Amino acid sequence: MTITESNHSSSIAINSNRPVAVMGLARSGLATIRALKRGGSEVIAWDDNPDRQTAAADLGATVSDLNTVDFAQVEDLILAPGIPLTHPKPHPVVVRAKEAGTEVIGDIELFYRAQPAARHVGITGTNGKSTTTALIGHILNQAQPEKPVQVGGNIGTPVLDFREPDPREPVVLELSSYQLDLTQNAIFSIACLLNMTPDHLDRHGGMEGYIAAKKRIFRRGAMPQHAVIGIDSAPTVTIAGELEKAGHWKVTRISSEGRVDGGVYVLNGVLYDDLDGFDEAICDLMPIETLPGYHNWQNAAAAYACCRHLGLDGETIAEGLASFPGLAHRQQIVGRYKRITFVNDSKATNADAASKALGSYKRILWIAGGVAKDGGLNGLEKLMDRVRHAYLIGEAANDFAGWCDGKCEYSLCHTMDKAVSEATALAVKERKESVILLSPACASFDQLESFEQRGAVFAATVEDVIRTRQQMLEAQQ
Ligand code: ADP
Repeated sequence: MTITESNHSSSIAINSNRPVAVMGLARSGLATIRALKRGGSEVIAWDDNPDRQTAAADLGATVSDLNTVDFAQVEDLILAPGIPLTHPKPHPVVVRAKEAGTEVIGDIELFYRAQPAARHVGITGTNGKSTTTALIGHILNQAQPEKPVQVGGNIGTPVLDFREPDPREPVVLELSSYQLDLTQNAIFSIACLLNMTPDHLDRHGGMEGYIAAKKRIFRRGAMPQHAVIGIDSAPTVTIAGELEKAGHWKVTRISSEGRVDGGVYVLNGVLYDDLDGFDEAICDLMPIETLPGYHNWQNAAAAYACCRHLGLDGETIAEGLASFPGLAHRQQIVGRYKRITFVNDSKATNADAASKALGSYKRILWIAGGVAKDGGLNGLEKLMDRVRHAYLIGEAANDFAGWCDGKCEYSLCHTMDKAVSEATALAVKERKESVILLSPACASFDQLESFEQRGAVFAATVEDVIRTRQQMLEAQQ
């Protein structure tokens, strides 16, 4: 495939002499079709969902079942990251493509091939990718509002919807392990790996496969590259050592748990920069409400290191950290009433993610439940002394009640409405500083479509409850 720059627009255009197959037509799949069509390429697209087929046809793609297409005629298969490439077993379309010698890649690889001269900043890790990516984007944009930086990938805008970046212009990309698995040549000038704990192991055939996928962010290019690596998890410590030994990489270690010689770290909430050996205290993260907890301090340290490598100074980065608006559904403050703060952490779909929010506050009225993951709430035992009362919702409510027995007070609420009203009633009655926290440790599919929708329902319910209480107060006066 040849990739040409578009003459008539600033959007990315990809030209291929032979048809390109696109499998999986969610947002990134449709963006891929748009870029290919802008370049005048023929596209064969497929998704089992008829609505998505229509959307692809509207963009000018030929909708055809890729289970039957002759791949000998196809240049590349662009696979959506959600479709199994290797495990638990490759999708039959992947098998057919590979048998015909067709390359199977993703949109990130296509973007890199189209724009190799940009300065690719990649962020990956088990947790904190979106926050760190958004934080870097925010810091850069606040430093240079006249030159907005493009941020996307696994978060926000799909990369093939970006405008053409100028040579050496930074593009900030959140990368999942699935997306990295679908890269072949993509090279990142700054590659950030935040942390690694077991996750998605079914899709990578175990921890080794998962580590191998993440390590693809460290593909070596011709120029020296920066690796920013969190060293608060065992696998990433090993990877940092390996890269340093390999010699090519400038490795910056970051931590929110202890001092790092030559790196960036957070001690008692204060962010330190030792990149130049001065151990300079840069700013206090403690008062930044949008970055609560050790995990967010790790994200802040990583974003800081990346932005320093992009040429910003400490003071400018500190200003960006302080004005970060936060991301929706991740410990997002959605309301305040009397001494209560309402926090939406709907993104916490497993116990590990919920543990971060639970560890960030003191007196918590905790709303949890939905579709439980393997292991349920296990691992959260030590945090239960922070929970004043748990309000259990969704399919997992009864099982979670069994788990809570003897660990914390709880009520079976089943619905969000009931959980928010009961939690508010208790917090108002007790008149203490408290946090009403939705951090469900569950998927949302029993009652809602997505974690985003669940967070929105929580926020709307909170707004209702606060409004009703304020009206009652006014009526009494
Ligand atoms: P990702 O994009 O990797 O899923 P997010 O930034 O969306 O990560 O955060 C998702 C959830 O993971 C947050 O609500 C928080 O509970 C937790 N989290 C965020 N950053 C970290 C981190 N650095 N380490 C561990 N957990 C984190």
